[in-house]
Amino acid sequence: MTTDTAPTPRPGALAIDAYVPGKSRAPAGVKLHKLSSNETPLGPSPKAIAAFREAAGSLEIYPDGSSSALREAIARAHGLDPERIVCGAGSDELLSLLASAYLAPGDEGLFTEHGFLVYKIAILAAGGAPVVAPETNLTTDVDALLARVTDRTRIVYIANPNNPTGTYLPFDEVKRLHAGLPKSTLLVLDAAYSEYVRANDYAAGIELVSGSENVVMTRTFSKVFGLASLRIGWLYGPEGVVDALNRIRGPFNVSGPAIAAGAAAVADRAHLDAAVAHNSEWLVKLTEGVRALGLEVAPSVANFILIRFPKDAGRTAADADAFLTSRGLVLRAVGAYGLPDCLRLTIGSAEANETVLAALAEFTGKSRG
Ligand SMILES: *Cc1c(COP(=O)(O)O)cnc(C)c1O
Repeated sequence: MTTDTAPTPRPGALAIDAYVPGKSRAPAGVKLHKLSSNETPLGPSPKAIAAFREAAGSLEIYPDGSSSALREAIARAHGLDPERIVCGAGSDELLSLLASAYLAPGDEGLFTEHGFLVYKIAILAAGGAPVVAPETNLTTDVDALLARVTDRTRIVYIANPNNPTGTYLPFDEVKRLHAGLPKSTLLVLDAAYSEYVRANDYAAGIELVSGSENVVMTRTFSKVFGLASLRIGWLYGPEGVVDALNRIRGPFNVSGPAIAAGAAAVADRAHLDAAVAHNSEWLVKLTEGVRALGLEVAPSVANFILIRFPKDAGRTAADADAFLTSRGLVLRAVGAYGLPDCLRLTIGSAEANETVLAALAEFTGKSRG
């Protein structure tokens, strides 16, 4: 070990490809529709905005380090014990804290082929070894995951529904995955889009967390609650995990305005229902509308769809991306997720959605019937 060079990050840090957020720019002169980051077209609850404004009056005061008001509001909305909830600066922070709490150097963290990119980043940043399981039909494959479990597997992440595919795993399959894991392996159920799901065989995982010591569920205020900019996530977990996270997290990891706005948002059931209703209507219309143009769309239960483009010159995903961007329609390229011939489209306002359908019709040369 030499001591006369600049400081060197620990192994793993430089193996990370930094997360690239969705684009948010359109050419000058065209109206921008940002459909690249799964944000809600309805915005946050007016009650959350009011609570945020009120919090502006006490910015010199440190926030409550245990986010009590927020944990209690979440607990009330979901019928949970507030002592089993940990809040974070976005669920991204919690996903990373879980890796740092449970992975020692060389331990393995497992996730799926087209899983959320943050899992790999969290595992590498913690000094762990990422292990990837293939998917079947763009969907998490429980057998493929279980086949890759070794005696070094400490953590398994699945997003349910998954981003960027939009597909989901029925709860029976989640339970089968859990049953096949060693008791010492932590199963992380990332339920960032669960509010949007309307499928009878789906569950976010609360029941599984309640009945076991090695399952946690993470949730976010960034998607259906429209508070992405405030960075608020939460986790429901067994006592042991909650205790570990409360030791390693920053003492004031959630800001005062975030605590206030999040607590108001989660109590506004009517706003949540309106956002879900808008999504359910347009999820069907967009899926059918894009399929009618001859493009493949993965069956989504979330607030976005994954569209596959042909490989022929002039018609590829990159061509579509350039064409749509020139019209102010900014989608998400997903090459980093191993899906170079796809684009992910967030369900937007009625106006944005209609504009996308018209633009895609023009791009594919098909009129909409
Ligand atoms: C958007 C998203 C999150 C939420 O991230 P935040 O840090 O809470 O904004 C978590 N998981 C998945 C799969 C997501 O798509």
